[in-house]
Amino acid sequence: MEIPMSRRHFLSATAAASLGTLAIGAEPTRPVGGRRPIAVSSANGLPAVERAMELVKKGHDPLDAAIEGVAIVEADPKDHSVGLGGLPNEDGVVELDAAVMHGPTHGGGSVASIRNILHPAAVARMVMKRSRHCLIVGEGALRFARAHGFPEVELLTEEARQIWLHWKETRDANDDWLPPPDETVAAFIKQALKPRVTGTIHCSVLDTHGDLGCTTTTSGLSWKIPGRVGDSPILGAGLFLDNEVGSAGSTGVGELNLLNLSSALIVEGMRRGLSPKDAIMDVCKTIVRRCTKDPKRRQKDGRLAGNVLFYAVSKDGKYAGGSIYPGARMAVHDGDSARLEPVDALLDR
Ligand code: ASP
Repeated sequence: MEIPMSRRHFLSATAAASLGTLAIGAEPTRPVGGRRPIAVSSANGLPAVERAMELVKKGHDPLDAAIEGVAIVEADPKDHSVGLGGLPNEDGVVELDAAVMHGPTHGGGSVASIRNILHPAAVARMVMKRSRHCLIVGEGALRFARAHGFPEVELLTEEARQIWLHWKETRDANDDWLPPPDETVAAFIKQALKPRVTGTIHCSVLDTHGDLGCTTTTSGLSWKIPGRVGDSPILGAGLFLDNEVGSAGSTGVGELNLLNLSSALIVEGMRRGLSPKDAIMDVCKTIVRRCTKDPKRRQKDGRLAGNVLFYAVSKDGKYAGGSIYPGARMAVHDGDSARLEPVDALLDR
């Protein structure tokens, strides 16, 4: 889609903000080690693993590398699941969730329901480094970000606003909002509204010293109830790591991970000696077993409603993705090249 002139100006302003913002809280580089680095991410994370690997090979901290990697997607107005251009809540306001974990210090920080901040993962790093807390939400998170020099930007792009407006105008035939004639509705709006938009980016990085860092950042479920917080900013749910064991993170229906602390369970599985793939599949089984007890988490046929996807890397450099239902892919950089790989699923469609 052609980007209007005013939007181009806006993007160049945010791109400038983006560069300065990412330096806030980053570690100095150190000499490169001898281990093979790995970066894994969700399917939207190919540019993220490429950037993260570039940085890790120059001696950057693994968490800083992950944050810079996902920042590309946070600043991408075409990705409607993360940061700028993310689809808003039911009121048309973009609210972001993000978290980070740092292997060498076992530090973690997160922000939830934060508005007007382009790089919430970098703010989460500041929560980890410059507060005694792990999670700051809403207005408090925005004020914390402002205090650390993060600029405020409008995250609702024109394209995302048009998609939201059409959703609002068509959701209930009995309310007073009226959609325009169908033939005037742009194709990109209809396309975007076909499934409910979900999506997030997770990135886990194993550096050349065998140290781990990870982040998960998202605009959450489209049309969510204002203030809804998903799994992404909850340490243990949307991401987790243990520098002696491995790192894991997730995308998909966050409530399923909140109910199971799935990422922490995957890391615990790896601690017990499971491979990343087996640890993921074990947790997928646990989610299905537990969550199908609740009628609202079951489809009519009794199967689990909603899907979750996982990405994991072990301390010794093994990695895997996995999901409950098929069709997912993951992005990987193994130190030589970046690619998208299909991931195994627990169940058939
Ligand atoms: N996990 C995210 C959330 O629940 C959304 C997603 O990944 O699709 O907020």
